[in-house]
Amino acid sequence: MQLLKERILKDGKLINSQILKVDSFLNQQMDIGLFEKMAEEFWRLFGDCGVNKILTIEASGIGVACLTGQKFKCPVVFAKKNRSLNRSENVYTSKVHSFTHNKTYDITVSKEYLHPNDRVLIIDDFLANGAALEGLVSLVRDAGAYLVGAGIVIEKAFQPGGEKIRSQGIRVESLARIASMSIEDGIKFV
Ligand code: 5GP
Repeated sequence: MQLLKERILKDGKLINSQILKVDSFLNQQMDIGLFEKMAEEFWRLFGDCGVNKILTIEASGIGVACLTGQKFKCPVVFAKKNRSLNRSENVYTSKVHSFTHNKTYDITVSKEYLHPNDRVLIIDDFLANGAALEGLVSLVRDAGAYLVGAGIVIEKAFQPGGEKIRSQGIRVESLARIASMSIEDGIKFV
């Protein structure tokens, strides 16, 4: 998505060759006009797939997921992150290891909000090593729901997540795919 790529080049800040900060329009301050356009793009890609539920993960996926849910006219559910989990019968749960923060946490969704007859589109802000996305996929599978695919805002294609998830036959569509990034040479898209 050209508009998003231009915004990343204009406002993205490289912390190092692995981490891109986009706090000014995605991860802290949110550009809702841009989110609307991203939602339109997800609708163009997945609008004919019978999606009846959007699933994301707190916190940074929620904004884009909400605008996407508005476009698809369906509920948006977010998985909660818990440091340690009191076992419960009433939730689907999965473990996620964050390489960015170097910690493992449980993610949960109440069984009330994911059902076997759901057709789920996962939405998230970043795809890097794929741990967060794998966790969400596992929640959908545990619910017995149908996974339509995943819509990602920024994929760091030089990290293994995208390939790992696509090799499982899951459709992953990313609005911007970064081929490489470094302080010296900047950001290059696929
Ligand atoms: P993964 O589980 O695919 O390794 O990483 C996914 C999560 O890590 C994203 O939802 C995002 O919160 C965070 N993340 C990974 N890489 C980056 C990055 O370069 N920049 C930012 N802002 N977040 C990232």
